[in-house]
Amino acid sequence: MDFKPVFTKKERPVLIAGPCSAETEEQVLATARALAAQGVDLFRAGIWKPRTKPGGFEGVGTVGLKWLKKVKEETGLPVTTEVANTQHVFDALKHGIDVLWVGARTTVNPFSVQEVADAISGVDIPVMVKNPVNADLKLWIGAIERIYAAGITRIAAIHRGFSFHGDTKYRNVPHWQLALELKRLFPDLQVICDHSHICGRRDLLAGVAQRAFDLDYDGLMTEVHPCPDEAWSDAAQQVTPFDYQEMVAHLNIRHSSTTDAGYLQTMEHLRHQIDDIDEDLLNLLGARMRLADQIGEYKKANNISIFQPTRWNEILEKAFEKGEEKGLSKGFVETVLRAIHKESIDHQAKVMNEEIVEVGN
Ligand code: PEP
Ligand code: MN
Repeated sequence: MDFKPVFTKKERPVLIAGPCSAETEEQVLATARALAAQGVDLFRAGIWKPRTKPGGFEGVGTVGLKWLKKVKEETGLPVTTEVANTQHVFDALKHGIDVLWVGARTTVNPFSVQEVADAISGVDIPVMVKNPVNADLKLWIGAIERIYAAGITRIAAIHRGFSFHGDTKYRNVPHWQLALELKRLFPDLQVICDHSHICGRRDLLAGVAQRAFDLDYDGLMTEVHPCPDEAWSDAAQQVTPFDYQEMVAHLNIRHSSTTDAGYLQTMEHLRHQIDDIDEDLLNLLGARMRLADQIGEYKKANNISIFQPTRWNEILEKAFEKGEEKGLSKGFVETVLRAIHKESIDHQAKVMNEEIVEVGN
């Protein structure tokens, strides 16, 4: 895919801001005026809201598009809204919406994404595609491909985090590695961080925004409301225009690169050391697996099972202790060791069951 930028590069990342939902004309215009004065690049507001349960506030509908049109006329800010079906697309286009976005609950469903793609086919409008609710990079890329196949080349991705069942401080866990993999696969695709939906609460917003800037994201999408606590949707994660301005002002803007000779030289030096260590690590892992192969042979000869829980517990305990001394988090040590252990079991299983045909994993 040959993406064209949705946003022109500036000194700082792109700022997209506005309420979760358009509620009233006054609320929309008041927010837009404040944000326009702060130099925000794109105004967002949801008109049709995909809510978890029926019966709640499901968006003001088409009337809100007139308010967004007014925002454009009065403040000059371009506007964006979420579309999820053919009617949304037609209505949004009719009202001159500048950028469309596909929401997380739409990206997750290829039928819906295809419907949106078919509806915009042949129209020259930028589209932002949010990640699906579940942590599935292929599904995210698939949705982008469907939009691209409809002739849209100005596409950006929005990282809004992923549903997670379990203990987490986030509303949607970021899984940064997934978005970074998307950036690696498609370096020309602009990636925006929707920290509001990742965080779900306003006190976490600044930290996640800074992380996005540290990771070279192209921009930030933030939900901003004149009276956040009274918002009709996503109240806990919205901030006032004033707080938004404060937060943005305190973020450290990182540059993608520099031509400073001293910096480049030092980095080269440090990266050589990293490369050497990576090579050592791989050599050591190779050596470890060759030992696992030998152990596999030996267990086979004695008909002993591969998995030995006591030994595995000992390895983990020792590694946690050692890891702590070296400043490594317990989670990291566990992830690395589990991966090594799994590979070791796979090696032993291969040695012990050479004659058994594999039927899957
Ligand atoms: C939104 O942006 O208000 C929204 C509904 O987001 P998501 O699709 O990420 O849930
Ligand atoms: Mn929202």
